[in-house]
Amino acid sequence: MRRHSLCYIVFVSLLATAASSAQTKRTDLLKAMVLTGQNNHGWQVLSAHYRNILEETGLFDVDVVTSPPSGADMTRFNPDFDRYDVIVFEYNGDRWPTAVEKSFERYMRNGGGMVFGHAVNHTFKDWRAFNEMMGIGGWGGRDESAGPFVKYRNGQLVLDHSPGHPGECVDAHEYSVVTRAPEHPIMRGLPSVWLHGTDELYSNQRGPAKNMTILATAYSDPAREAHWGERTHGTGEHEPMAHTVRFGQGRVFGTAMGHVDGGAPMGSGPWPAMECIGFTTMIQRGAEWAATGNVTQPVPHGFPTATAAQFR
Ligand code: ZN
Repeated sequence: MRRHSLCYIVFVSLLATAASSAQTKRTDLLKAMVLTGQNNHGWQVLSAHYRNILEETGLFDVDVVTSPPSGADMTRFNPDFDRYDVIVFEYNGDRWPTAVEKSFERYMRNGGGMVFGHAVNHTFKDWRAFNEMMGIGGWGGRDESAGPFVKYRNGQLVLDHSPGHPGECVDAHEYSVVTRAPEHPIMRGLPSVWLHGTDELYSNQRGPAKNMTILATAYSDPAREAHWGERTHGTGEHEPMAHTVRFGQGRVFGTAMGHVDGGAPMGSGPWPAMECIGFTTMIQRGAEWAATGNVTQPVPHGFPTATAAQFR
């Protein structure tokens, strides 16, 4: 009986040790929050993808935080931003409680990190600080009060104060992404031009554009049809596809790429914009830079070339 009890105690304590080590999180990893729950695009698919590609780097411990659905009570939605090195947005939807918005502003001003992809730029039209963090946005009822159109002309960022509603979208196709800031840590070592998997091409974005650096552009071809905006064809401009913003001490990386259809169920696909190795590399590197100010990840094998898109 006594011997049996001892074995039992040893067995139980081994179980407890196993359980606690499984729960112990590595403390050397960067903490990333993927914030999702509302989006007119396929947020379930994209948020799972963001978790996967960030974990694959071996640099991040990732939590996915899901908001209440659109129209639901938000009063108990209160993410603890300060626990994270970077917040990756896959969200466009309802405003948050004022205290949560203020806590996010504080987090960013004090040196937080933020990453956002395609379609997040629709959100929070009337939250000025969030628009300053994004630099540029589109749709959502925006007009010239949002800030100037942001263009890339003659090798530099140009602010265009023409009136008009921002946000147009050239029909999805494969397009060339051109590096415009080759020495930036996110871009270092990437090809000067690479072919992106079939994606919508956002154009005519506008916003506060303060402390903004354009990292990459794509040409919006006037021969192609545009929709969901005032124009019927591409702009004939080199449109920002990836950029950074400094907001207080915080760092923001944003990209217009990464379309997945709204309502896309888990396991659906393929989604060439999302699975493009160029896009995933930009998100992985952008998240590390937003978290730390540096990028340690090498350019992955199989990165797209100027003539061939490449997929995971
Ligand atoms: Zn889209």
